[in-house]
Amino acid sequence: MKKMQNNFIKKIIDKDLKNKKYLFVRTRFPPEPNGYLHIGHAKTICLNFGIAKNYNGYCNLRFDDTNPKKEKIEFITSIQKDIKWLGFKWHKEPRYTSNYFEKIYEYAIQLIKKNLAYVDLLTKKQIQEYRGTLTKTGKDSPYKNNTIKKNLYLFKKMKDGLFLPGKACLRAKIDMNSSRIVMRDPVLYRIIFKKKNQLTSNKWLIYPTYDFSHCISDSIEGITHSLCTLEFSDNKFLYDWILKKINVSNKPKQYEFSRLQLEYSILSKRKIQILIEKKIVKNWNDPRLATISGLRNRGYTASSIKNFCNKIGITKQESLIEFSFLESCIRKELNDIAPRIMAVLDPIKIIIENYPDNKTEKIRIPNHPKNPKMGFREIFFFKEIYIDRSDFSEREDKKYKRLTLNTKIRLRYAYVIQATKIKKDKNNNIISIYCKYDKNTLGRNPKNEKIKCILHWVSKKKSLKSKFFLYEKLFTIKNPELKKDFLSYINKNSIIVKNGLIDSYISKIPYNKNYQFERIGYFCIEKKNYNKKKWIFNRIVSLRKK
Ligand code: ATP
Ligand code: MG
Repeated sequence: MKKMQNNFIKKIIDKDLKNKKYLFVRTRFPPEPNGYLHIGHAKTICLNFGIAKNYNGYCNLRFDDTNPKKEKIEFITSIQKDIKWLGFKWHKEPRYTSNYFEKIYEYAIQLIKKNLAYVDLLTKKQIQEYRGTLTKTGKDSPYKNNTIKKNLYLFKKMKDGLFLPGKACLRAKIDMNSSRIVMRDPVLYRIIFKKKNQLTSNKWLIYPTYDFSHCISDSIEGITHSLCTLEFSDNKFLYDWILKKINVSNKPKQYEFSRLQLEYSILSKRKIQILIEKKIVKNWNDPRLATISGLRNRGYTASSIKNFCNKIGITKQESLIEFSFLESCIRKELNDIAPRIMAVLDPIKIIIENYPDNKTEKIRIPNHPKNPKMGFREIFFFKEIYIDRSDFSEREDKKYKRLTLNTKIRLRYAYVIQATKIKKDKNNNIISIYCKYDKNTLGRNPKNEKIKCILHWVSKKKSLKSKFFLYEKLFTIKNPELKKDFLSYINKNSIIVKNGLIDSYISKIPYNKNYQFERIGYFCIEKKNYNKKKWIFNRIVSLRKK
């Protein structure tokens, strides 16, 4: 990947280092283990790990496991796999917010003792009502003035499971009239009963909120710059308030940048979960999702994703990134490195009448048009070959470059042919096209004649049956994330399956590569179904922007 682009966060860090505010840089990536990572996370990963690398510092991986109801070991495993696949290394072992629960609890006690936190017994609904709105100030809870002693007693009761969930919570004592709603006595601890917490062995019945645990975890880990997305801008004031009021020496600073939004995609984990539950996609790693594992299955490389993240840059500007921009990153990369091969997705038979019955011709061609280092391959020409059904038209049509009954076309790397007649079945479907070839046109064009186009082909004898999955966009609108009823905008044809043929040379190219199918697009082998007898491919991206 190219060097990390300059951005406003780098400028802040440069200044901090210059002023000796810090001698080193330490960042963290704090995913909630409630789903798989997506391309938005990739942006944040590239930033946090990229900054650490750029300044010779560290980046921690910290699982923000403060909501045991949504966490799963599967997510913890997949998150680590995806970060490694992207090519990043976290510092030492992964960390968990739950590692610090004991400490965080002590800080809560500290706040109560400083008369800066209280146990509230209002219901969730009442708390919401008392909080007010952007235009209406809040009002104090009747429990706000309980004594420190009473609060310590009630908090202990919460910890011991003597309150049911929702019956009590710990709140910071700040200001119910604050213009920032997050500062209106935010909740610091809530009660969650969960039979089995995989990470904390069911020890805790109370859990710190994101706001309370995040700044403390950052401080414990010695994080210098806590980077997050813009929706936490107001929370920064609470972040600073907490670190000021508890007794800690390390007080990291939070900086925000805009979230990645990608056209035609859903990135919210909660909504992806709905797509899975409704069986609209198969799983988190469905190739139609912009999850890291989905993109990997689709054939995207780690470097193309990193390049994409680097190119979109880090700003405070909210914008919806064009899906075609992501596509252009992988297309550009594969254009340089993908071996070429010919495949016909929807075959129609061509019989070359004047070609000798048993003749075979070997034609040596490059694997890449511009890179001879990628070697050469042989293709075989026979009397019977296949072209794509869409490359033939019964009617002459000047607009379309394809084979018709009156025009001459070139078969890629082979001869110029002309169609003479077609054969149809009972239902009027074309089953074969009869052609004549000009034997003097191998490698050169006939004199004074215009060749309409060059078509790709495979021969009957030297091709293998294959299945091709063509993925289209999952949504019919650019920004489904903004729609409450996003499920009404699903593209019902987001997978098109074609049964066709591929040049049998494919079996000689090492497995696990991406290929360019000439004139069609970039494809990769569907790994799950990989089996040399039955070739299955996923289309990564078509050749040109549609
Ligand atoms: P989601 O809404 O997708 O569930 P989240 O913010 O709840 O996202 P977390 O696992 O809590 O997901 O996020 C871990 C980190 O990744 C956070 O720092 C968060 O800001 C960042 N992140 C999440 N989504 C995006 C995005 N679309 N663009 C950039 N960063 C993101
Ligand atoms: Mg979250």
